[in-house]
Amino acid sequence: MTDASSNTIIRVALDVPLDRTFDYAAPGPLAIGSRVSVGFGPRQMVGIVLGHATHSEFDLKPARPIEDMLPPLPDDWLVLVRFAADYYACAPGPALFTALPPALRTPRPFIPARDPQYRLTPAGRDWQPPRRAARQCELHAALAASPLARSSARAIAADAGRRLDDWLAAGWIEEVDDQPAALTLGPLPALTPAQQQALDQLPRDGFSPTLLFGITGSGKTEIYLRRIAETLAAGRQARVLVPGINLKPQLESRFRARFPNTVIACLNSSQPERARSEAWVAAWQGRARLVIGTRLGVFAPLPELGLIVVDEEHDASFKQQDGLRYSARDLAIWRAHRAGVPILLGSATPSLESWRHADAGRYGRVELAERATGAALPAIHLIDIRRLPLDDGLSVPAIEALARCRDKGEVSLVYLNRRGYSPALSCTDCGWIAGCPSCSAKLVLHLRERQLRCHHCGHHQPVPHACPDCGNPDLKPLGQGTQRVEAALTRVLPGARIRRIDRDTVSHRDAWAEVYQAIHDGEVDVLVGTQMLAKGHDFPTLSLVVALNTDGGLYSADFRASETLFSQLMQVAGRAGRAERPGTVLVQTQLPEHPLYQALCRHDYPGFAATLLDERKQTDMPPYCHQFVVRADSEKLADARAVLGALVAALPAIDGVCVYDPITASMVRLEGRERAQVLVQSAQRGPLRRMLAELTAQAPVLAKPYGRHLRWSVDVDPLEL
Ligand code: ADP
Ligand code: ZN
Ligand code: ZN
Repeated sequence: MTDASSNTIIRVALDVPLDRTFDYAAPGPLAIGSRVSVGFGPRQMVGIVLGHATHSEFDLKPARPIEDMLPPLPDDWLVLVRFAADYYACAPGPALFTALPPALRTPRPFIPARDPQYRLTPAGRDWQPPRRAARQCELHAALAASPLARSSARAIAADAGRRLDDWLAAGWIEEVDDQPAALTLGPLPALTPAQQQALDQLPRDGFSPTLLFGITGSGKTEIYLRRIAETLAAGRQARVLVPGINLKPQLESRFRARFPNTVIACLNSSQPERARSEAWVAAWQGRARLVIGTRLGVFAPLPELGLIVVDEEHDASFKQQDGLRYSARDLAIWRAHRAGVPILLGSATPSLESWRHADAGRYGRVELAERATGAALPAIHLIDIRRLPLDDGLSVPAIEALARCRDKGEVSLVYLNRRGYSPALSCTDCGWIAGCPSCSAKLVLHLRERQLRCHHCGHHQPVPHACPDCGNPDLKPLGQGTQRVEAALTRVLPGARIRRIDRDTVSHRDAWAEVYQAIHDGEVDVLVGTQMLAKGHDFPTLSLVVALNTDGGLYSADFRASETLFSQLMQVAGRAGRAERPGTVLVQTQLPEHPLYQALCRHDYPGFAATLLDERKQTDMPPYCHQFVVRADSEKLADARAVLGALVAALPAIDGVCVYDPITASMVRLEGRERAQVLVQSAQRGPLRRMLAELTAQAPVLAKPYGRHLRWSVDVDPLEL
């Protein structure tokens, strides 16, 4: 037994999937939010102090404070994470540890690196790096413009650290005070009248969500930059959330170029852990004034938050699909509300949820209807392929358009959202199709790599020489992937320089930079690529987009598929055409009369949204109802279904809440496990929350007899059903 006289008893959260805290004995008073090192079983773990107790039934193990000079985690941060844990039905421990950066999840001290700022000395101003050394010249120019943080220098050149040390030693640069005296702005364009009007309409203080509805290229990012400048100038911090796929060097450089003496922290899951932890702590300590992040950026603590921007707010990557299944956009709105600051949600194709909030007046709506550069919107035409022969997926009108474009010396883009050579490999004799041993999915043929690959679990195997069922050596690829279209284009456009862009060819930052450069240097005629190419890129000479195999989105079982398809097509279409060259978009389809394509040709998002909202209302679908899904998976489908059946039977009836029968997931097997789910929905959040509470209380008990093989989870506001 331990009591308070000798020790302080603390309640800590640990990264274990249990819905409870653990008591430890602390050597002295420790504030809520402190990080401590504790023994848990055989391991030493980090715990977060969430409360205190006066006595405990048990003999308590000791907790040691982690001595790294970091203050306790801030209250409003703890409130946010506990809200997220509660709302998304996740145990508080794992939620806290999802929200922390890697270095703070370990019981070791974290000492943030210094991030000094440099400026040129008079001697450094007279000196010039050799003209050939482009990166050095860029670094020198940046230093000439304003003081530059070491972290920002690294964004200019990977070896900037070493260069700065050399220049420091040579007396060309010197260190300046940590806090720049005044905000410096890089070169900025004069706003178009439409932008000026939009900017004037934006609320400046208090919680005020605003939907910035503007077509691709309408200058939304410029509006963000202006509002961020105001926020920084007022001494506040700004947070910008962008979809994962958008956080590319170009975007980062655009922000750094605009705010050359501002410490900018970038947060994304693909950066090195150390860098992510540094950025997080810099934001927390207020050193970083601007935080740009993917969804996990919503958890960085910003003590002087003045503005939140969510770019491409409709993007599905803001929703985490495992563990703490949070929506970063929705948490950002919650945070803005708590902090009483404006939040700007930007999109060319807003989510129907946000659109409806704007219709209902809960969000402001500000529209940018023209391209900032004055370019006309691309003309979108449909190619009806019902009666056209296709050559590896390409119709004659599409091939002719590509050839004309190349002859004019302009770049075209062939878009299809499928990597690999073909999405299936089949036997011409018996109809066998290569399937994944662990998933209910076909294996994708990757010809270049001579492999069959599963795009769901990562399984891969060599391409068989003959059908494993009947021995027939004649195996045929079915359908098209980017590799196949690349090969077809090489054949039908002899001499054209073709470049494929997908996750197989561009897997890291440097690869992007190289591709980008090649396009700018005019070394590419035709780009073939996936969604990866669609977002946040600006290719000035691109004048034609051809979209292939998009009809699938209209047959999908997922009720959101057409919403997603429309936004993807609008986004790729937005790549075509700049000021001097009007663009053209060709969409090959078997369903040219479909309202989606008709709305697309008119660039009519509001019309399409109205149609979809009407449909959703008729069928009681989100945003006209709220949902959560309970998923279970096991080695045997029967177990997954049985536990969900028991759960449905055990739940009480709650007025206005509809609990559907368990169904098999649309992809039954994934990574060797079989999956089922139950959908629960209601028009009202209140009753639905009560049902969720019932469920999280009952599920562990009901799942217990099935042992460790059975896993279950809850997804609140699911994007995928
Ligand atoms: P969005 O974020 O809506 O896609 P951007 O802000 O990226 O739009 O602007 C699209 C293009 O127009 C960019 O190349 C940008 O540099 C340019 N641009 C934006 N605003 C202006 C302006 N006021 N004057 C000139 N060019 C602009
Ligand atoms: Zn066969
Ligand atoms: Zn698989």
